[in-house]
Amino acid sequence: MSNIASEMANMHWQHDLLSSIEVGIIVLDKDYNVEVWNQFMENHSDVRPSQIAGKNVFKFFPEVDEQWFKRKCEPVFSMGTPAFIIWEQRPYVFKFGTSRPITSTSDVMYQNVTIFPLASTSGKTDRICVLVYDVTDQAVAKKNIEGLNQRLQEVSRVDGLTGLFNRRYWQERYEREFKMAVRNKPDICAIMLDIDHFKKVNDTYGHHAGDLVIQRLANLVKLATRETDITGRYGGEEFSIVLPDTTERKAKIVAERLRKLVSLDAVAYEDINIKYTISVGIAQFSPKYTQASQWLEDADKALYQAKEGGRNQVVLASEVKPT
Ligand code: GH3
Ligand code: MG
Ligand code: MG
Repeated sequence: MSNIASEMANMHWQHDLLSSIEVGIIVLDKDYNVEVWNQFMENHSDVRPSQIAGKNVFKFFPEVDEQWFKRKCEPVFSMGTPAFIIWEQRPYVFKFGTSRPITSTSDVMYQNVTIFPLASTSGKTDRICVLVYDVTDQAVAKKNIEGLNQRLQEVSRVDGLTGLFNRRYWQERYEREFKMAVRNKPDICAIMLDIDHFKKVNDTYGHHAGDLVIQRLANLVKLATRETDITGRYGGEEFSIVLPDTTERKAKIVAERLRKLVSLDAVAYEDINIKYTISVGIAQFSPKYTQASQWLEDADKALYQAKEGGRNQVVLASEVKPT
């Protein structure tokens, strides 16, 4: 082959390569004018190489933050070190639609972008090559997993029957509040409450009826407390609450309101109305507590006293006589 023929052949396969590759290839000069714009870029932007050749890339793509992109490219020009932009930092550089609108849950193309220097024979970098990778599938998969993880985390925090925090998560939050209370000594209260003679409800009406009573009580607990209170199902028919920014006097008002609400309530089951009551123990945080468990034990002692005192009542730990 003659020199010219062999050069033509070379150009031909290079052109084929640039056209068929599933990666965007752009060559930019120092003024950010386009020298190479391959088929991938044309397909996704609808801008033909003949339209953009020699023109400033930012004029065609106003979504590209010029200052930011130049900041990324400057070290590539000046030091010859490559730069990378990953979709987690910025979902895309060029706003392209996705090529798989039906199968993909995203309507934009997520991109990873690599920028590397193209040195001239003198060794100076006067051009850079920008590679644009379509990573939509990868990004969508990762986002789906993140969504699932979040859902899983929510599920693992919440008690299935009542929608309140489960014991494990409630305990975690309680201990966090305790640690903060040790440092800041705020007014904060812990409440333990338990349904009175609940075994009788189960024995008389069955376990399912018992479950409905537990659910109903959980709803009343939510109704009687604030968004910022931490409400949990501590055990079978025992509930625990942390009330931040609350003195024992205020906590007693809240608990009395709940106790009264419950005592007036009835759960409709088949053709009967099931009446039920609760006993409540309250302990205000005190700096005397050296361990989180002591605070809750005091609330539990108050609850025990409420049971002993005849049930359907609220007792403060400060009112409990030492044994
Ligand atoms: P007290 O007034 O002293 O609290 O009497 P009690 O009968 O309520 O006694 P206790 O609190 O010890 O009883 C708890 C009962 O709650 C025992 C258990 O069978 C029942 N229980 C625990 N978890 C569930 C549940 O998820 N559903 C139902 N239906 N019953 C439960
Ligand atoms: Mg009980
Ligand atoms: Mg109990």
